[in-house]
Amino acid sequence: MLNKDYFLGVIDDLIVLAEEKKDYFSELDSAIGDGDHGMNMSIGFREVSKNLDGWKDEDINTLFKNVGTALLDKVGGASGPLYGGFFSKFGVPAKGKEEVNFDEFIEMMEAGVAIIEKRGKAVVGDKTMVDTLRPAVDALNTAYHQDGLAPKEAMKKALEVGEAGSDSTIPIIAKKGRAMRLGERAIGHRDPGSASSAAILAILYKRMP
Ligand code: ADP
Ligand code: MG
Ligand code: MG
Repeated sequence: MLNKDYFLGVIDDLIVLAEEKKDYFSELDSAIGDGDHGMNMSIGFREVSKNLDGWKDEDINTLFKNVGTALLDKVGGASGPLYGGFFSKFGVPAKGKEEVNFDEFIEMMEAGVAIIEKRGKAVVGDKTMVDTLRPAVDALNTAYHQDGLAPKEAMKKALEVGEAGSDSTIPIIAKKGRAMRLGERAIGHRDPGSASSAAILAILYKRMP
């Protein structure tokens, strides 16, 4: 079971990540975008940090709905509605719950990634965060439901696949987002959102009991 302490720990780590990797995410975005991806993440999670104490007694769904709303309200860039949507939907399968089983956790991941795909209309190979998240969630499903891996092992597999998905954005052109305009000049650069998504997966893995 994954309880609220797990999810609160994840949110704490996301707040730290947004500060620690701020320059890195923005450097990636400077190469093929407008250089603000780190700043966008930082603005969003500073807002989460400011309000988190007041949300700690909420169920998992409301907790993440609040995280998502903070990102939606505060982040101007493409990542605002995308990660805002992710976190707003992430908690829905945990409505009214203080803990979830691993089946429910996989449903949460699927719900989050599905709204990113729906809003952004990107598919794998478009050089976006979807290149990390879609294969990771599919791998999570397969590892747990078909291969019978234990939850943390399944999440490790998902992380590895997600990191490889981020790597796969380097040699390709972009079909969505700002980098699209660069055409072939985007080749050789990692997509910034694919990197932040891989870092989020790493937190979900590391915190897992
Ligand atoms: P902006 O591009 O508006 O400045 P950010 O820099 O914060 O916003 O985020 C850029 C990231 O958002 C990209 O690296 C990419 O991963 C992701 N992104 C952009 N457009 C889309 C889309 N349509 N679908 C999925 N992800 C997208
Ligand atoms: Mg940007
Ligand atoms: Mg921007």
